[in-house]
Amino acid sequence: MTTAVYPGTFDPVTFGHLDIIRRAAVLYDKLIIGVLHNSEKTPLFSVEERVNILTKATEDIANVEVRSFEGLSVDFARSTGARVIVRGLRLITDFEYELQMAQTNRKLAPDVDTTFLYTSLQYSYLSSTTVKEVARFGGDIREFVPDFIVGEIHNKLGEGDKES
Ligand code: ADP
Repeated sequence: MTTAVYPGTFDPVTFGHLDIIRRAAVLYDKLIIGVLHNSEKTPLFSVEERVNILTKATEDIANVEVRSFEGLSVDFARSTGARVIVRGLRLITDFEYELQMAQTNRKLAPDVDTTFLYTSLQYSYLSSTTVKEVARFGGDIREFVPDFIVGEIHNKLGEGDKES
């Protein structure tokens, strides 16, 4: 049985993330989404909220589980028994950073490998940051994120500048 983890910030989760999750869930027996708790950033959604959102957004995928974690992705992977880290690649600009991370992780944990899934073309422009930017200026984000979080994103941005 092959378990993989998909670590990220997911603030908020987008259709780009969900596309990677669906595709990775086909490739691996079990996929554990790791929601990063980064104490140096002030996210729009708390880690508990992000875990709940991802749990709801993936409730129809039987082999997906959502957890929070702090620290290194390789440590998170090991703690779950996963030998694979899944990451998504969008533009060539992602590649440099992701390759560097993957190589560092390989050095830290030679028993854990990183696999990359290329984004589906229709999501190649999509990032959590642009979603927040569009929402902040009152733009329509329904094509970018699940329906059930659209109102919550607008509410949070309306509360003041809590975004990282
Ligand atoms: P991080 O802060 O770790 O980069 P993100 O939540 O921004 O976390 O992204 C998690 C992973 O999902 C990263 O590998 C990122 O490249 C990938 N990703 C983000 N948006 C997309 C997208 N639109 N299509 C494919 N992969 C994506």
